[in-house]
Amino acid sequence: MIIVIKDNIRTDDYERIKKYISERGGRVHESEGIEKRIIGVIGEERHLDRTAIAALPGVEKVIPIVEPYKLASRKFHPKNTIVNVKGVKIGGIDPVVIAGPCSVESEKQIWEIAEELSKKKAHILRGGIFKPRSSPYTFQGIGEPGIMWLAESARHYNLPVVSEVMEISDIDVLYDHIDIFQVGARNMQNFKLLKALGKTDKPILLKRGISATFSEFLMSAEYILAEGNEKVILCERGIRTFVEFTRNTFDVNIIPVVKKSTHLPIIIDPSHATGRSDIITPITLAGLAAGADGFMVEVHPRPFEAFSDGNQSLNFEQFTQLLDDWNVLKDAVITLRKKTNEEVLTACI
Ligand code: PEP
Ligand code: MN
Repeated sequence: MIIVIKDNIRTDDYERIKKYISERGGRVHESEGIEKRIIGVIGEERHLDRTAIAALPGVEKVIPIVEPYKLASRKFHPKNTIVNVKGVKIGGIDPVVIAGPCSVESEKQIWEIAEELSKKKAHILRGGIFKPRSSPYTFQGIGEPGIMWLAESARHYNLPVVSEVMEISDIDVLYDHIDIFQVGARNMQNFKLLKALGKTDKPILLKRGISATFSEFLMSAEYILAEGNEKVILCERGIRTFVEFTRNTFDVNIIPVVKKSTHLPIIIDPSHATGRSDIITPITLAGLAAGADGFMVEVHPRPFEAFSDGNQSLNFEQFTQLLDDWNVLKDAVITLRKKTNEEVLTACI
């Protein structure tokens, strides 16, 4: 539930509200609303009687949250969460560009890509070290030797870096070398992994599971938030449908729904959503026009030589074309983002 606090509340009344909740096993989340100070409460309803709380001095009203996710809800936290990764702001007004290979393959390959991203002013480098593959007979990721190649190329070009953790033990291995932990689609409901990531202080890029509903996706984010890590970035990477002309189906609908219902940033991954390099540009632009906070694409100097996901990887020329097309749309999208932001916040008051 949300407790809306009266403007002129006395400090001792405010403290009494917090004490009342904690004594009954509730967790208190203080935050500034748009116009009002609010206290979000998480706990068992049977111990926390809404009518009794509404009667405490200094309480203006109590609003129940019917959604299963609480900390991820915009009611709990009306303002957008902006995740700052070494100065790159995800969830702010400017959408971010994340690019890099599906897998780190060699030192030369990742340095070549990092150099290209830096030239093209992309914001963040991606690269898989540990790879979740559908077949055990395909490349499973370069593993530990690739970590330093990825980290050093990223540091050299001043790019923050994101890489996937497949299991809890990967967290420590990657911790000192990367800036964002990615949770892949296949691990979206690996609750032990989510809890462990919730205890870290690094941003988490949480990909939507291949058949995850909206609330399942949000509940996975809730697992991370509930452990205290507020830096969650959602990622729509396509879902499984009956279509056979693309690898997955890009669910553009989820973007405005995430924006209305939650305060978390959402980026898109048109590479995995389509599986086809020839349609990545229009899908990227559609997602950005719908309100995505950025996009992540797979880029490889020679996609036909890629160890994984070559079909959906852009070569440098295609990546440049994508950025040029994005530039055509960018100002209009930014104008729309400012307007939508205000509308969502006003609806929340
Ligand atoms: C990836 O980003 O390379 C990846 C494996 O993505 P997903 O988990 O979305 O399939
Ligand atoms: Mn991939």
